Amino acid sequence: MPTFDFECKKCGHRFSEFVSIKNKDKVTCPECGGSVQQLFTGFLYISKGSSSSGSSSCGSCSGGSCSTCGL
Ligand SMILES: [Zn+2]
Repeated sequence: MPTFDFECKKCGHRFSEFVSIKNKDKVTCPECGGSVQQLFTGFLYISKGSSSSGSSSCGSCSGGSCSTCGL
């Protein structure tokens, strides 16, 4: 299951949570219970790396099974 990063719209608290795609709209801030928005930083980076074949995004793998970049 992928980890998603969220930021609270109320208090700005950032956290990562294991949640299925179906339920990620139901995630609330663990600090204040406010609504959160999803942060796409790591997600976008991985998508870019996999679209351009050959260039690794993390530099420590050659496109095989890498726990850092997920390629
Ligand atoms: Zn909050």
